[in-house]
Amino acid sequence: MTKKYILTFPVDATDRSVTYELIKKFDIRINILKAEIEIGKSGQLLVELEANEEQLERGIKYLKESGIIVSALANKISHDEEKCINCGNCASACFSGALTIKAPDWKLKFDPAKCIICKLCLKSCPLKLFKIEFAEQ
Ligand code: SF4
Ligand code: SF4
Repeated sequence: MTKKYILTFPVDATDRSVTYELIKKFDIRINILKAEIEIGKSGQLLVELEANEEQLERGIKYLKESGIIVSALANKISHDEEKCINCGNCASACFSGALTIKAPDWKLKFDPAKCIICKLCLKSCPLKLFKIEFAEQ
């Protein structure tokens, strides 16, 4: 299975080779989709992890025990559905296809599996309804 996570590193963990450790210790394939990290500062990675369920669980437990905060991507991006007027601006900007508006209901839908935290929806929503917790905004 493949899942996306946001890894938040505390200041003292930014110099660790997490990718190496996940591959070597848990046989987890890791694809870094976005990185906002500097040695000596806290930072974040958007990663796609591929492994079976048990390997993923063990790898994530290891990351947490190492002081890294592991969050599912879906928990880090949201929009205020109540205020949304389903204008479609954000869906037009979202080239990954994570945001869509289609018949029959023409209501905005979000698929976190396709999101790459490009933040274009933040800028394209005229009502500023999106909230994304990933590095600088
Ligand atoms: S952050 Fe980018 S990929 Fe994710 S929903 Fe917004 S526009 Fe789409
Ligand atoms: S741009 Fe804003 S108001 Fe328009 S569909 Fe997207 S979230 Fe809703």
